[in-house]
Amino acid sequence: MNDPRQIAAGIVGAVDWQTEVSGFCRCPGESLHTHKTGKKDCRINVDGAPTIYCFHSSCAPAVASANFNLRKQMGGSPWEITLPGGRVLRSGDVLQSSGAVLRREVVQARARAEGRDAGEQLALETLKVVAERFKPELFEKFRWPFAQIVADSPLLVSERDADDQFRTWLKLWPAHCHVWIGDVYSSGRPEHRTHFRPVAEWYQIGPVMGNYTCGSAFKPGSFQRSNANCDGTRFMVIESDTLPKDEVGAIFAYLNQRLHFNLHAIIDTAGKSLHGWFDAPRDRQIELRLKAVLTVFGCDPKLFTYSQPVRVPGAFRDGRLQRIVWLKN
Ligand SMILES: [Zn+2]
Repeated sequence: MNDPRQIAAGIVGAVDWQTEVSGFCRCPGESLHTHKTGKKDCRINVDGAPTIYCFHSSCAPAVASANFNLRKQMGGSPWEITLPGGRVLRSGDVLQSSGAVLRREVVQARARAEGRDAGEQLALETLKVVAERFKPELFEKFRWPFAQIVADSPLLVSERDADDQFRTWLKLWPAHCHVWIGDVYSSGRPEHRTHFRPVAEWYQIGPVMGNYTCGSAFKPGSFQRSNANCDGTRFMVIESDTLPKDEVGAIFAYLNQRLHFNLHAIIDTAGKSLHGWFDAPRDRQIELRLKAVLTVFGCDPKLFTYSQPVRVPGAFRDGRLQRIVWLKN
């Protein structure tokens, strides 16, 4: 029986194993890095869908080719290893952060239950555990505390007044869009049509119709904030109920710099959290993978419900201004 860790070492060289199946290694594309390389930037995982993952993005082609190689070699030689306590982990099983073994048969059953390709299900299950393993490095490497976010804003926005905040935010939208603004219940009946208006009308009205909006635009004539009424123009609004303002910035920076989702604005909700407004994922597969990873990082999975209400800049919440604190130039 092969040891998967030997196959791994044959591809990436010496591995500093952190668990039975995951460790730090030298990035196969290290020479392509455009930023300083740290000891914990690249990790190899042999469980689930065997994966090498590096925090740099410039090395992506070399990492992809090493991953292809790794999966090809592992795929050709089934393995099993005995974990402490005598449990057995086989190729295709996933070692959960709790220490439990997610058996490959369970992964396949989940794929069938979801009507999903078995390979994609394994990729999703692997992404979740890899995200768990990477989480400490992510919050360390991409750390972006609140004061720094405000100081780093390409445009000075945080001190603008309420009307200016609101109109600045409206400019994020293409001119033809119909946008909803209201309170959470300003939706569902014909009289709520007045909360769905073109951007130009909102520009005239100002921030007086409620504290909430949506990351999605709606079809003209809508009076209900539902996914079916979204017109396809949308932002992905990232929020977390658990991460404080000094921590959630790491997720924003990671998405913007590493995953190249375009960050448009960061909004201070005048409560405990910050919202990052990003381009929406290009397709359903990317969206599902991102949802799996962001949930592990502590983000709210509701953000993938595109008709979800979020705080609008320029409105006051208990006397405090909901405002943009970082804005792309
Ligand atoms: Zn790399």
